[in-house]
Amino acid sequence: MHKNRIYLCLAHMSEAGLEQKYIQKAFDTNWVVPLGPNVNGFEKDLESYVSENKRVVALSSGTAAVHLALIACDVHPGDEVIVQSFTFCASSHPITYLGATPVFVDSEKDSWNMDPDLLELAIQDRIAKTGRLPKAIIPVALYGMPYDIERIMAIAGKYGIPIIEDAAEGFGSRWKGQVLGTFGKFGVLSFNGNKMITTSGGGALVCPDETEWQRIMWLATQARESYPYYQHEAIGYNYRMSNICAGIGRGQMTIVDDHIAHHKHIMELYRELLKGVSGIEVHGNPDERYESNFWLNTITIAPEVRIKGQENAYKAIVKGAVGGAAGVVHTSESAHTDCEPNANVEALRVILDQAGIEARPLWKPMHKQPIYKNAPAYVNGVSESLFKVGMCLPSGPYVTDEDVQYIVKCIKGAIEG
Ligand SMILES: *Cc1c(COP(=O)(O)O)cnc(C)c1O
Repeated sequence: MHKNRIYLCLAHMSEAGLEQKYIQKAFDTNWVVPLGPNVNGFEKDLESYVSENKRVVALSSGTAAVHLALIACDVHPGDEVIVQSFTFCASSHPITYLGATPVFVDSEKDSWNMDPDLLELAIQDRIAKTGRLPKAIIPVALYGMPYDIERIMAIAGKYGIPIIEDAAEGFGSRWKGQVLGTFGKFGVLSFNGNKMITTSGGGALVCPDETEWQRIMWLATQARESYPYYQHEAIGYNYRMSNICAGIGRGQMTIVDDHIAHHKHIMELYRELLKGVSGIEVHGNPDERYESNFWLNTITIAPEVRIKGQENAYKAIVKGAVGGAAGVVHTSESAHTDCEPNANVEALRVILDQAGIEARPLWKPMHKQPIYKNAPAYVNGVSESLFKVGMCLPSGPYVTDEDVQYIVKCIKGAIEG
């Protein structure tokens, strides 16, 4: 047994403890509120990191950023929004908050992200079926990997549909050298505890100009009118980041490039050590235009790879939710659903778990989620088949070279033969 459990991705503070210094300053100067010098400073740091031409609003979560971007794209009840199916639920749930309908689009084989051909087909079919254009398109940088933003922008431009980039997992990833989140009309970032950098919980919206920035800032602070009393002429939200959280963010911005370099290094190490293991592949950049931050390193396990004990996979109902350390989860009625990872993937997850290693299946595509069973979906089978064979491996700054060696040793040891 390994000494300490190796988690998928944990928050990691700067050596100099700058996060705590910024927080202390907030206390010392009595800025313990959802605005203040740390929030402004963090927004400036983010702006200088992503692009000189963008403005950024720091928010309480990445989910809030998606929600506000949709409002700014004029999404109303009855509207449709196109979104990548292969994603975490926070890309699509805010569409339903607004009474609109997500239209799911499947992925390309190489990037695992939105398939541009299928995107165009979906747009044309929605126009044919509803007589209206979707209000926005949301591609997602799954596990940090860029989407083919050039083709997606060309198609979106042809129909005049705005793009909201969900770069929550892709902070610092680049397409042809340019940071994700800066191509579309809006860019979503997340600083949840397990993302590339953290503010404990938090997010940000990258805005195209001063006008949109003002509107997002206004919506994020309860949409107040300029009177000496509270006057409300639109519905607003309490979505601004707290000055305490932003203090953590300012410290984290000093080490974001180190984090990304470490994630990339871990990817290279997995790739090297798993080379020659038949049936197991490490997901990498499709070509030199893509530069993933490798937020989570992922592998695929071919169906013919036999893992010890795979005949016992899914025999027991899992207690607690995967990734759901906080909060209440419903206990499942059955160990199976109609779409689940292959038995060898589950068996490997269990073996790694017992060896003190947290591994996790890939995100289950939204078009296979019961809650979205009635949503239109344009599928090619890619995300569903990846979900059945894929697995996320520990990747954060806490993961050492020795850890990766140990993890790979456990994977090799789990294979029968
Ligand atoms: C984490 C995540 C979000 C939302 O971020 P939170 O800060 O957790 O609300 C949105 N989209 C994707 C793809 C994510 O992984």
